[in-house]
Amino acid sequence: MTETLIVGLEVHVQLLTNTKIFCGCVNRFNPDAPNTQTCPVCLGHPGSLPVMNEEAFRLSLITALAINCEIAHFTKWDRKQYFYPDLPKGYQISQFDLPFSHDGWLEVTSEDGSRRKIRINRAHLEEDAGKNIHDETGRGNDSQVDLNRTGTPLLEIVSEPDIRSAAEAKSYLEELHLLLTFLGVSDCNMQEGSLRCDANINLHIGEGDNKVATPIVEVKNLNSFRAVEASIEFETKRQSKIFAETGRKLGDPGVSKETRGWNANTNKTTAQRGKEDAADYRYFPDPDLIPVTVTAERIAEVKAALPEPPATRRRRFETKLGLSAYDADVIVNQGKALADYYEEVVAISGDGKQAANWVTQDILREMKERSLSIDEFPIPAEVLGTIIQRVVGNKITNKSGREVLSVLLSEADEDQKIEVSRVDALISERGLEVVSDTGALEEAVKAAIAESPKAVEDFKAGKQQAVGAVIGKVMRLAKGADPKAVRELIIKTLQEM
Ligand SMILES: [Zn+2]
Repeated sequence: MTETLIVGLEVHVQLLTNTKIFCGCVNRFNPDAPNTQTCPVCLGHPGSLPVMNEEAFRLSLITALAINCEIAHFTKWDRKQYFYPDLPKGYQISQFDLPFSHDGWLEVTSEDGSRRKIRINRAHLEEDAGKNIHDETGRGNDSQVDLNRTGTPLLEIVSEPDIRSAAEAKSYLEELHLLLTFLGVSDCNMQEGSLRCDANINLHIGEGDNKVATPIVEVKNLNSFRAVEASIEFETKRQSKIFAETGRKLGDPGVSKETRGWNANTNKTTAQRGKEDAADYRYFPDPDLIPVTVTAERIAEVKAALPEPPATRRRRFETKLGLSAYDADVIVNQGKALADYYEEVVAISGDGKQAANWVTQDILREMKERSLSIDEFPIPAEVLGTIIQRVVGNKITNKSGREVLSVLLSEADEDQKIEVSRVDALISERGLEVVSDTGALEEAVKAAIAESPKAVEDFKAGKQQAVGAVIGKVMRLAKGADPKAVRELIIKTLQEM
């Protein structure tokens, strides 16, 4: 029977603000000093009053617009009530029926290279809870709670169940991660929990009227791209097997959504506490916070100032700079800093394709070997652009260009970037300039022949290979000359002698 995988992702993004969402506590990952970044507001002491952080809302607007969402002109705050040790207030301030944004999309590249839009249901703003720390030594049963994270501004981005493979889910998360770093709204550090993902996964089995669905499983704790892909692969197999064995399906009496956790050590999902329905949370409007109104002017203003998103940048690299989709992907997927570097190289060298060749081959390889980011790389864009400019302007050959780059890299020391003036200095020091002046080349050929009576004699005796010795001499006299042209000129000169 045909099986179609149905996946929707919920991504929680910690916003990069100085302070928390409803109080003045510092918003910084700090696990070494637990419970030092709290106040009566984020701890929910009676009588304390929350005030919305304008910057958190601004970063949310930027993100929602970049994922093509509609912005609501009126949005409010709701209390989502549940009991858990990491939530001393007994409720989380979130947005229920009137989120500030809805109905967007994000374009992702599928395995076959085609691009597909994944619809986004909504993005809403909420506060994060604290963090429970369980004793993992196995000796005791102690659990501790760190409330530093309580009240961190969190943007929840909920996709529609449009994702059809584990690889596509990974690709969606990678694209979202890249976009968020381009926008600068989050540090997106997945290991520290700045970007967390839950996946809703089930299978549609069969076709047409006979189609049934397996129960929806929400997998939590997906804190790496690999975890998203691997957990979906695991769930696909698990759900398929259970369905084959039991025929249990969505809609059967007693079948409800299941929550499972991902264990990266065993590469398996395991059952967790049952998932509450919205009704269990008893959402109600927060009486302490006023609703937020957003004017059309404000939306237009934020939209106009949006940084160029990765998808638009790839497309521009293809259409305006003549890059292949593959090269555009390689450059943009490395992040904004490399894309900016590349564009600066293009501006100086005047050649998009050549610049892409050098950046995707030489620069990325050297960065990898040296474990350096582009910001730390010793060859500034201006220097690389100048080398390429000398190549495309036929001042030096491609091979000499590579030599210049390699010498500059060997000259570079840790904290000093190479000066652009070194490029031409090195070209002349090493005599790499292409000798296009035929007069100068003829002079060099004559001089080399005069120095090589033996070679001349051998050549006259019919030994063509004798030319080799003369070529070597000419190349030493006229560095940067084209060896093929030199060879032809020597033979012509010898024949005329
Ligand atoms: Zn606080």
